[in-house]
Amino acid sequence: MRVAIAGFQHETNSFVEGTTPFEAFVQPDAWPGMLQGAEMIAGTRRRNLPITGFIEAAEARGWQLAPLLWCSAAPSGLVERAAYGQISDDLIFRLDSAGPVDAVYLDLHGAMVAEGAPDADGMLLRRVRDLIGPDVLLVASLDFHANVSDEMVQATDALVVFRTYPHVDMADTGRRAACRLAQMACRSRRDTPTKKALVKVPFLIPMGTQSTLEGPMAEMMARIAELEAWGGAVEFAAGFPLADVVECGPAIIGYGDCGAASVVKLSELMAILEHKFTERLLTPDEAVSAIEDRIYGEGCGPVILADTQDNPGCGGTGDTVGLLRSLIDADICGAVVGVLHDPRAAEKAHKAGVGAVVDVALGARHGFGETPLAVRATVEALADGNFVGTGPFYQGCEFALGRMACLRVGDVRVVVSSVRQQAADKAMFRHVGIEPDGARVLALKSSVHYRADFGAIARACLTVVSPGANVADLSQLSYTALRGDVRIAGGRKITRIAS
Ligand SMILES: [Zn+2]
Repeated sequence: MRVAIAGFQHETNSFVEGTTPFEAFVQPDAWPGMLQGAEMIAGTRRRNLPITGFIEAAEARGWQLAPLLWCSAAPSGLVERAAYGQISDDLIFRLDSAGPVDAVYLDLHGAMVAEGAPDADGMLLRRVRDLIGPDVLLVASLDFHANVSDEMVQATDALVVFRTYPHVDMADTGRRAACRLAQMACRSRRDTPTKKALVKVPFLIPMGTQSTLEGPMAEMMARIAELEAWGGAVEFAAGFPLADVVECGPAIIGYGDCGAASVVKLSELMAILEHKFTERLLTPDEAVSAIEDRIYGEGCGPVILADTQDNPGCGGTGDTVGLLRSLIDADICGAVVGVLHDPRAAEKAHKAGVGAVVDVALGARHGFGETPLAVRATVEALADGNFVGTGPFYQGCEFALGRMACLRVGDVRVVVSSVRQQAADKAMFRHVGIEPDGARVLALKSSVHYRADFGAIARACLTVVSPGANVADLSQLSYTALRGDVRIAGGRKITRIAS
């Protein structure tokens, strides 16, 4: 079998200011920069990426691969029209030039919004389908946070979605996509087309409550595994609620009669679980008080404060300082904060050198009602930002975070980087000489992904609401494009304004 493979990934927070240019898809961060043609194979090896798992599985089956291109950009604002057009056109041109193929596999996120293309993934899949015609198989893998559209379902033979958040199964999802492709390739295309069922769940699930490690989402995923064991091909995406598009929200997809029956059962379960998608949110001062009151005792491991609203993995700027300010004001002994995106502070630290004392204004370059935090800091460590991820989520990622530094302000240490990145891997701290297991308090710019690597060492995990673009209380956002029946899980009203 000859299979064309490509990837084009973006999770778009349509509420943030600024757009995502072509260059953002070219430069590497935790994941590779743009890879073209055969570069894709070597450039994605040994990563926890869907394309990696797919290539491994395809090679094991002896399939011939036609690599087209692969790129991703960190979550941010609308993808610029020119960037979306250029990358989509390039992908289509390469597919057209690749010669005859039996199948196409695309590694997509599923929550990309481009200027003029609110369903950017659906539009791309439709273009691919129009090019290859009805007889070539088309399979795409999607992130757990995909906002699945009817177009995406109709254009493909199968969609395969991550089953975990934190996403520790990205490569496994690529392997599952290859497995689905192999199953479908065994059947004649002249057979009756597989029945597809799509149900859009009528409520948005806040990001912080989407973890599959516990609570209602763990129940949902366990039920999916059960139904699948009985033969129901079914997929579930929790959706990315920070996208003001008609497709926003969770989706359940079923294939075949058995899959369609599973969709009905899972819709009923979601209705039962709806009121459980809630999360306790603390202000920075409440979190500091809890630590000072020693509510969490002197036991082992750090108390983790998830600075969820400034999570770069959801479009946060990674440089707000509300939580950092509270920790410094209280001079919380043994607190470590990271990773603050501040290229200027990193450069100043590198110029001054290890051991120097510098006056620096930290973060807060993007507003949110904040001003930079002026501090006198000791430069404790410097690093070049090139290191390999070791945790289950970022496993094997070759980080390129630019100049990094560890700055000490009183009893608080802050890790700064020159490239924006979610703090979801211990290697990000060890790279600047900090052993996170030994911290008393860890304030991480992350919502849920940090749990993959830090969850086992945490004495307690608290979610803190400090300024940022990943708004935790969805009722504070103003939507223009949502479907009329959509609410926030638990019945909270959506704020709607005319577009
Ligand atoms: Zn995701």
